[in-house]
Amino acid sequence: MGFIHNWLRQDILNLSPYVVQSSENMLKLDAMESPFVIADNLKDQLQKKLKTVDINRYPSNHEQLKKVIFDMMDIPDNLDIMFGNGSDELIQILMMGLNKNDKVIGFNPSFVMYKIIATWLQLKYQNIDLDDNFDIPKVIPNAKIIFIAYPNNPTGNNFTRTKIEQIIAHNPQTLVVLDEAYYAYSNDSFIDDIDKFNNLVVLRTISKVGFAGLRLGIMIGKKATIFEFNKLKMPYNINSLTQVYAELLLTQKRIIKENAITIIKNRQIVFAELSKISKLKVYQSQANFILFIAKNSNDLFDHLLQNNILIKNLNSVIAGALRVTISKGNENQQFLNVVKRFYE
Ligand SMILES: *Cc1c(COP(=O)(O)O)cnc(C)c1O
Repeated sequence: MGFIHNWLRQDILNLSPYVVQSSENMLKLDAMESPFVIADNLKDQLQKKLKTVDINRYPSNHEQLKKVIFDMMDIPDNLDIMFGNGSDELIQILMMGLNKNDKVIGFNPSFVMYKIIATWLQLKYQNIDLDDNFDIPKVIPNAKIIFIAYPNNPTGNNFTRTKIEQIIAHNPQTLVVLDEAYYAYSNDSFIDDIDKFNNLVVLRTISKVGFAGLRLGIMIGKKATIFEFNKLKMPYNINSLTQVYAELLLTQKRIIKENAITIIKNRQIVFAELSKISKLKVYQSQANFILFIAKNSNDLFDHLLQNNILIKNLNSVIAGALRVTISKGNENQQFLNVVKRFYE
């Protein structure tokens, strides 16, 4: 045992690092990225803009970028927003002001970072199991903060809206965080509810709509709420390059919207095709991925890998479960062909 093993807290030593699976030369359908790349004319504009960045200086304030995001995401202007280095950073900021042993609630299965960050911060984390329909169960214990991914990852569904409204309304001392990472692919959002409730914030990100590499997350809340959470933010957490890229790329609202519509259409096709395979149980999705339970799921996963297709194996989370990101038509077809052949 070396120095670090005696020095570091035991609960941190017990964690496993977040591993990014290598995907060179693979069809990458594991991480809910958008398959759409930036058009050449936009790339030229970006190049020009990048030349104007004084990289010897700290990033300027985000006023321009804020305007762009308000417009892109149709955020009501009586609200305020703040940025994180990905919404992951905002999840951390939301929990950083808690007392040690304050209770944090998340659901199982849901996004893993809620629990991991709560562990870092020595908070009391409780995972509530979803019911058989992957919906929120009836009784939710009291907590300081509750994280609700809407749509949920990795199941893809939206929880029943009235259940969430009840949680918000009946727990006025609890901060309820609606994590809308997949808002662009969903038929519902809680943005318009922020005005009604003092204990609600919404998280969004540009990662799942084409810009995962920029690392830009958005917290949306009442002005007073955002003012206070800003005190927990690192200075200059959004770098100049991200700022310049985002200011230009996110004004392309129509293209971003059209790409999302394409993915939603393709999701319907993939859902229909997978549903024809009797060895699979396929779940409806409001996101840019589909969860399905497969017979011999580990073998299917390996078979896809051998064919250079990377999806996500969730067998350790839900028995037999796999998750595939929806992509362009030809890429989805490549995936579907390999799955069909596997069961023939
Ligand atoms: C992907 C994802 C995030 C992380 O988004 P980043 O902005 O890339 O950090 C947050 N929440 C959910 C539910 C996600 O699926």
